[in-house]
Amino acid sequence: MTKKAANAEQAVRIAAGKSIEASLQNTFAVGGVLIDNRSGTALCALHNNVLEDFENSKLFLLHDPTAHGERQIVDWYFKNRKRLNLPDPGKLSVITTLDPCAMCAGALLTAGFNVGVSAIDNYAGINYNEAFDFPSVPSRWRSVAQSSFAYYGVEAPIRRAYRGGKRVAFAKQTISAFTFCLTGTIFESSVNSVRALDNNSGQDPSKLTNPKNLPRNSTVRKALLDAYPEAFSVTCPKPRLPGTEIARALLNTAKKAHRRGAAFNSVAFLDPFGNLLLCLGGAEERSPIRTAFMEVTRAYAHTRWVLMNHRDKSVREQAGNVLTHPKYGTFVSLYSPDPNTPQGLMTMGAYGSTMEGPIPETFPSNLQYVLLPEGVSQADVSEMAMGLPPFYTTGVQVAPSQVLDEGLIEETRSSV
Ligand SMILES: [Zn+2]
Repeated sequence: MTKKAANAEQAVRIAAGKSIEASLQNTFAVGGVLIDNRSGTALCALHNNVLEDFENSKLFLLHDPTAHGERQIVDWYFKNRKRLNLPDPGKLSVITTLDPCAMCAGALLTAGFNVGVSAIDNYAGINYNEAFDFPSVPSRWRSVAQSSFAYYGVEAPIRRAYRGGKRVAFAKQTISAFTFCLTGTIFESSVNSVRALDNNSGQDPSKLTNPKNLPRNSTVRKALLDAYPEAFSVTCPKPRLPGTEIARALLNTAKKAHRRGAAFNSVAFLDPFGNLLLCLGGAEERSPIRTAFMEVTRAYAHTRWVLMNHRDKSVREQAGNVLTHPKYGTFVSLYSPDPNTPQGLMTMGAYGSTMEGPIPETFPSNLQYVLLPEGVSQADVSEMAMGLPPFYTTGVQVAPSQVLDEGLIEETRSSV
């Protein structure tokens, strides 16, 4: 990328160009660009890739529920930081066509980037109330958000005043009403067309067959074992009531992650039959936003995307019969999302994006944790969930809860 932006209008236009590419890909039309504050150089421009073709197959588009433009830019930065000798995140700005969602806002705050925004998203955006007070952000991080996030002014006839900190690229500048309207309307129209696709919902669990009974050499089973070599080693009799049977997997995975420099945490994913399909740690040693939950939801979506687009029709059918939407499964993390950190905000946001919309009403919730971080109560975790933007509260109804099995809590607590 050798493009340069001389002002906010030009920067937003680079991002808007990406949002047009996203709309042609039939995914959410949002784009972003990473700008060097000092020179205006565009270092990387990316768009939403939640829905993506697989090698020209348009059979099944759900590729990665976390592949929002901003989240990808953060991972791109940490992957290329050394090689390209990139400046610190505080000297860079992610300019985006749409206000970041909870996941992306958490990722951007974690990494320390400045953020410049064109259109507002009253449903899932972190500034959904347009009050610039960031009620969803952990309280001690709100002032950080107020100094690093900026909403560019918009010229007549919109006449929006600039709101934001001074550290963002092109601080205090305005953009044209034309560009502002493009960024908003292209997103809104893409939401409708993505909904119309309706190829991601998956089978109701009552229509599924148990993948545990697949032959060892079946393509689907092999793909699951590739993603997690110990898949199927454990089955919970009641998937929403995981017990001590998953303690060993959670602890061993967290220990392994910690040894290579990631956080001491792990997330298990149980399918509707209670099979442990995945149990992964984070990769924070490579990028601070690659938490265990991010790795697990991406691994499941990727495995399903590849299988559901397989050139062999029988493999596609088999995959559709045994794997379904993650909303029917259960995520169990060793440690709950930490409501005092932007990573906690990101994790809850990523869970919301994974669910995509209203989830089947279930008790307990399909987002569970075994232990609480030091100094954090169950009420603190629930309070963060209830303070999220409307998409997460009234839409998905994010409700993390502690596992009910006391034995599982005891066994893990005594080993950490
Ligand atoms: Zn996002």
